[in-house]
Amino acid sequence: MRKKIVAGNWKMNMNLQDGVALAKELNDTLTAQKPNCGVIICTPFIHLASIAQFLDQSVIGLGAENCADKEKGAYTGEVSAEMVKSTGAQYVIIGHSERRGYYNDTPEVLKEKVLLALKNGLKVIFCIGESLEEREANKQNEVVKAELEGSVFNLSAEEFKNIIVAYEPIWAIGTGKTATADQAEEIHAYIRSVIADKYGKEVADDTTILYGGSCKASNAPELFAKPDIDGGLIGGASLKAADFKGIIDAR
Ligand code: PEP
Repeated sequence: MRKKIVAGNWKMNMNLQDGVALAKELNDTLTAQKPNCGVIICTPFIHLASIAQFLDQSVIGLGAENCADKEKGAYTGEVSAEMVKSTGAQYVIIGHSERRGYYNDTPEVLKEKVLLALKNGLKVIFCIGESLEEREANKQNEVVKAELEGSVFNLSAEEFKNIIVAYEPIWAIGTGKTATADQAEEIHAYIRSVIADKYGKEVADDTTILYGGSCKASNAPELFAKPDIDGGLIGGASLKAADFKGIIDAR
């Protein structure tokens, strides 16, 4: 049975003190009232080591939002997968559309990041999704297939088991515009079929595929009721414990 997961992506929000306070609030709430799905928070690099000190990672997993495409060395300002792992984090988001769009994370770069993350024992939340123009041209299926082929389909079936896929239509991220549950289900089922073609039905059935894009407590129940939507990757609504908990409770 594949894992149901609600993951938060804090992005570049909250200073260390505010981030630690939010993580403590979530830890207190979710250890007192255990969620019936996996929960992960992905935070800026600088928060990881502090949060790892107190987070009950049997209840809330901890992840980074990115890692370097190089192992180590003279890459000023970069943070390697090994460094992420050494904080106590277990996950890393790779391929978020903001990284692809603003920081030139090409398919080749992402492929290297994924390999290094796996080599260092991190699980990867790998993001894919089409732009508004691509959706309007009905190219969403070819876009997500190419994104998988470009950066993760080089993995063995065994390695691919460490990949959580997040489908995030770019036109729905931070815009308040959510894909309808039917639209999201259609492409999630397609993504699962592409994974089945590559790795077989068993691997595809075991792959967690999250939906991301303006997901909130009000629309989460309808999205999460769909058979191929295994949970959510949540941006804005992961920044307040009550909002995030509302989505977790919908799963
Ligand atoms: C995201 O960026 O991963 C995301 C889903 O953002 P939001 O929930 O704010 O649309």
